[in-house]
Amino acid sequence: MKFNKNLQNIKTYEAGKPIELVVREFGIEPKDIVKLASNENPCGCSPKVIDAVGAILPKMALYPDDSMIKLKNGLSARYGVQNKNVIIGSGSDQVIEFLIHAKAHNGSKILMNSITFAMYEIYAKHVGAEVIRTASQEHDLDEFYELYKKEKPEIIFICTPNNPTGDALDAAKIYDFLSKIDGDTLVVIDGAYMEYAIAKESKKEIVPKELIEKFDNVIYLGTFSKAYGLGGMRVGYGLAESKIVEELYKLRPPFNITTLSLEAASEALNDEEFVKKSITLNFEQMKRYEEFAKEQKIDIINSYTNFVTLCLNSEQDSTKISNQLLQKGMIVRNLSSYNMNAIRVTVGTHEQNSRFFELIAQYL
Ligand SMILES: *Cc1c(COP(=O)(O)O)cnc(C)c1O
Repeated sequence: MKFNKNLQNIKTYEAGKPIELVVREFGIEPKDIVKLASNENPCGCSPKVIDAVGAILPKMALYPDDSMIKLKNGLSARYGVQNKNVIIGSGSDQVIEFLIHAKAHNGSKILMNSITFAMYEIYAKHVGAEVIRTASQEHDLDEFYELYKKEKPEIIFICTPNNPTGDALDAAKIYDFLSKIDGDTLVVIDGAYMEYAIAKESKKEIVPKELIEKFDNVIYLGTFSKAYGLGGMRVGYGLAESKIVEELYKLRPPFNITTLSLEAASEALNDEEFVKKSITLNFEQMKRYEEFAKEQKIDIINSYTNFVTLCLNSEQDSTKISNQLLQKGMIVRNLSSYNMNAIRVTVGTHEQNSRFFELIAQYL
């Protein structure tokens, strides 16, 4: 059977291995498995979310509120924007899908960093767009600008802080870059880890309200999957000028967010204390990774997120080491598919991190 030829050279996205798979493949007890591979919040989610979701369970037979009014009101209040500036997706992943389908087509060019979130490329390929990448490992906006002038891309992705490297750009540099981009190029600022970056250094803070007031060709993306601890609920959002949001809405399937997810995300916004506590724990624990890297003489990228990227030296092989860890029930992310001899580790609880240090020290 022939399929859309755009799909021919797409490599299916490989998500972090779920705990269930490690149980089956290696016969390890679930309690002995530690998953530090998908940047989930090791504190779980706010107990208020659990109560709210429990209370709404009896409504499961009804379709969700497709206007998503409660969550939109929550996000609008949180960011000081209007509901018409908000689109909600099944994860911000889905918003990325919408915006690529809305703006790009066969032959379009999409500009992104050499190493960045893998889904940008996959969705780009759906529509037959060509991916243009910078050469430098960290976002270099001068290089972005040179490529923008040369290639005239339809869309530019800026992931700050970047996944899987954890580095972040100064907001001032991004604003300066945006002021040089023409209004017909859509610029995506993916802030999946922004809550962490702001806590670490205020000059990294992108304020979506300012952004969309100043630029009508920019969309800001946020998610409930990381700092809010709701990866399993699949809720993300895009904030942009209403004209952009209206176009994205044309691609949205009805009821794309479940009743439970809408409730969970709305309630999560009411417990900023939980998010604060998670972030404090994150950076306390991250210090241990920095010390560990120093002791082991391996490089660690200065991270503005809830994960660290350990760059191994040439005698160490990230594929081999991550497999050895997996066999002991420790799931981390091997970055060999990004052409990096590195592993990305989500900062876990004190106990999880101790286990990681103890295990990996045997293989380095
Ligand atoms: C996790 C992540 C997302 C989206 O996650 P969702 O769970 O789909 O909301 C988007 N961008 C980056 C860079 C991420 O790391």
